[in-house]
Formats: sequence, structure tokens, C-alpha cells
Amino acid sequence: MQTIHANRLKALRRLLESYRGSSLLETHLPNIYYLSGFSGDSGALLVEPASATLFTDGRFTIQAKQESPGFRVKIHRGSLLQAAGEYLHKNGRAHIAVSPARLTLAGWKTLMTAAGKSIKWAAVDGLVEGLRSVKDSFEIERLRDSARLASAVMNEVIHLIRPGVTELEIAAEVGYRMRRGGASGESFEAIVAAGPRSALPHARPTTRQIGKNELVVLDLGAILRHYCSDLTRTVYVGRAPAEVREWYQAVLEAQAAARHSVKAGVTAEAVDSAARNVLQSKGLGRYFVHSTGHGLGLEIHEDPRIARGQKTVLPAGCVITLEPGVYRERVGGIRIEDEALVTDRGAELLTTAPKEFLEL
Ligand code: ZN
Ligand code: ZN
Repeated sequence: MQTIHANRLKALRRLLESYRGSSLLETHLPNIYYLSGFSGDSGALLVEPASATLFTDGRFTIQAKQESPGFRVKIHRGSLLQAAGEYLHKNGRAHIAVSPARLTLAGWKTLMTAAGKSIKWAAVDGLVEGLRSVKDSFEIERLRDSARLASAVMNEVIHLIRPGVTELEIAAEVGYRMRRGGASGESFEAIVAAGPRSALPHARPTTRQIGKNELVVLDLGAILRHYCSDLTRTVYVGRAPAEVREWYQAVLEAQAAARHSVKAGVTAEAVDSAARNVLQSKGLGRYFVHSTGHGLGLEIHEDPRIARGQKTVLPAGCVITLEPGVYRERVGGIRIEDEALVTDRGAELLTTAPKEFLEL
């Protein structure tokens, strides 16, 4: 077993001790990858006090051996929850933690029936997710590389934006360039939203042609060696009216305020307020319709959420996005997003694309 996985299992077992020494049956694939290195798309991982068993199917026999040395691998046909349940039944484990948020009702019934009545279940959400929210140096290195690739692709693609090009053509360039840069894919479908469509924070690219005198929001990210990136820039095609420039400066200021508020030990809601207060003071508060950011890592949206009411204290080693925006119906939207590594001294930005107001 690789040291990195041994250390993660150790940290998890320490957490499990506070749940009457339970074992954990993990079914969420990014959590399984985090704990074992197994990257197949079918798996369940049982972490017991002295062993770890990976359940998967015949397609992954070789892969599981290669990726998860030191783990007991059990190959099954059919439902892996059934297999894990039967294993528990046979081996007589008493306390098993499962995450209800990651189980379907059907899966839960299968597991319970197969495991039999002697098992005591503990419903615990977010155990591994909590561990994952603090990145180790290995992960920070990978996140840095992924952010670097996203920044490079942004710098290239932003200059392809011109009247007559469609949103989908730009999105296709993003995907192509990510893969050329070594990404296994995009961390989400790139958002390319022009004109009034840029007022939709999660617009999907369409065949609409980019016009003159329009805002264009470009939000993209790569998956590079399993780690996600997330970066947004907004540009104007043509000469922007004074009002649009003011909004842009307001969003930029809001992001800077959020960034300056970041430091290990502050709460997530304090970072959100820092951005929100700037926009509110400029009368734009009601156009900022989402939260300020989110954690990211193996998944594009992870803990912590940087939002109102989030009392979570940010630890050093967290990687979060800072992405305030304003969205005006029928006019357009502006969002500026970067990734920040939380340290004891403050925020270190991992994404590097320039963000002065750009008129193309
Ligand atoms: Zn984004
Ligand atoms: Zn984001």
C-alpha cells in the first residue's frame, strides 16, 4: 500500500473511533479513489480497523491490483452492495458506518437485506469529504498544475472570442485545448455565455453567435491527473458603456475583498460577506444571486461552501474558489473567479489569468 493511502486510512480510522469503532462502507467513487487510489467506475470500499477491502467487478481486476496494492480486492458480478452485505454477514462485523447521502433507497435495502440483522448501522455523512477538504502537499501540487492548465487555456481561448463565432465553437476549443494540455477531460461543461445569456450564471453553450457590444462570460476547468480546476473571466466585445465598466470594477473589488479576508481560521461566511458587502455598498447586492465560492479537488464542488450562514472555519490547506458576480436580466452578467489556497498568512491564488477589464 502506498504511504499516502496508508496515512489517509489512518486518519479515517481515527475519526471512526468516535463512532464506537465502526468500520466504514464507502460507496462514493471520489472518496474511494482518495482512500485507495482505485479509479475504476464501479466500486465499494470497506475500511475495517485492521484491513481494507475493495469490491469491484471483473472489468477492473487488473486495474484494482495495479492501483490499490495492499488492499484486499474482491471481484463480483452484480450488485456490489449485495456483495459487501454478504461479506459483512459472513464476517460478523457489528458496527458499520454508511453515508445516507451517497446511497439510493434501493441500494440501502439491498445492503441491509444481504448483511442481515446482526449489523448495527451508523448513518454518518461527510466523513471522508471532511478529510478531503484539507489538501496535502501532493494534492496541492496537482491542483496547482490543473489551475495552471486552466489559466493557459483561458489565455488562449479568450482571444478567439469575436463577433460571428458561436458559443459552442468557443466551448469546443476549450475542451480540445484541455486535452492537448494533458487533461483527461473538463471538470464541467465549459460555460460560454454571450449577451443577455451571460446573465444566466450556469448557461450552457449554444449555437448562438457572439455579437458586437456584448458581454461574454467564460467559465472553464480541467481534470488533470484527477484534480479539478475552475476559472472564470468576463470580457466585452466592442467598447463597453460606462455602466458595464462600473459593474466590472465592482465585481473585481468584491473578489479582492474576499481574497483579502481569506486566512486560516476565518469562517466561510466571513469570506462570503466580504464580497457581498462590496456589491451591496454599490447597489448591486441583489444581482449577486449565488454564493461566493466552493471547495474543489477531486470534484468540482466540495466542502467547504463559501456562502451565507456557513460557520465552517477554514483550515490551512483548503482550496476554494472566489467567484462573485452580477447578473442583469436582458443585459448580461459579469463573473470573475479564481482559485485560492488557504494558508496561515492569507490566500494564495492558484489561477493566474489576467483580469483587467478586456475589450475585444
Ligand atoms: Zn467556475
Ligand atoms: Zn466555481
